[in-house]
Amino acid sequence: MLSAMHEAALHRNPTTGPKSRCQFSKNLVGDKSEILMNLEELSKILCDYANKVTPPNWNIYTDPSEHKCSQRALNIHLLLMDTTPSEWQTRQRETGLIIPAAMTRAQKYIRTSEANRCNTEMRDDGRTNGDGVFADTEISMLPLVLQGENQDPFAALVHELAHVAVNRLLARRYRAFKRGHIPTVNSAVMLEEDMHGPTYQKALRRFASRVEAKWGQEAAETIWQELENI
Ligand SMILES: [Zn+2]
Repeated sequence: MLSAMHEAALHRNPTTGPKSRCQFSKNLVGDKSEILMNLEELSKILCDYANKVTPPNWNIYTDPSEHKCSQRALNIHLLLMDTTPSEWQTRQRETGLIIPAAMTRAQKYIRTSEANRCNTEMRDDGRTNGDGVFADTEISMLPLVLQGENQDPFAALVHELAHVAVNRLLARRYRAFKRGHIPTVNSAVMLEEDMHGPTYQKALRRFASRVEAKWGQEAAETIWQELENI
């Protein structure tokens, strides 16, 4: 479920953002098949971008075949949906707040030997040579809505990755690799601070620095602006 946890994200100052070299230049318009094709392309570009600014054991993917069962892997399934702005508005009226980009699953920690989605060879190897634990989580995005709201999908993704980073920290504190999960996606409950409080800001600042180091100041401008406006 796209939860209300990102309420504050709605108040983010939407900016067009600088045209970084990773900026997705195509407009997501056209008939359904064209939009789906563009979304498929966008998802590849977004995954590539995210994998370049996250730690090496993080794995952002859209195609389930790219999920990793290796020890310490943090799998982030990026789910892009073709919801249009008008469909979104109808749904907002019917079901309440739905955020156009949100972390939609709490981190789950799974033993390779017990994971149905890992192949038999990996499971057997886990049982014989010592088990690995990997984590799964999910980010959902509505790119057509983001576009309609004039929000940069790259900055929106980084915003969610910073939430994933905070939850990774909490997972360590909570010893989730032994317990199997963290109790909620809502870090505010576990941290006793606002979900965009100091811990979150520290994580987002780290991402802004990485984006800047990789692609220059202009590419990180939207993220820095967001930090100023939190
Ligand atoms: Zn947020």
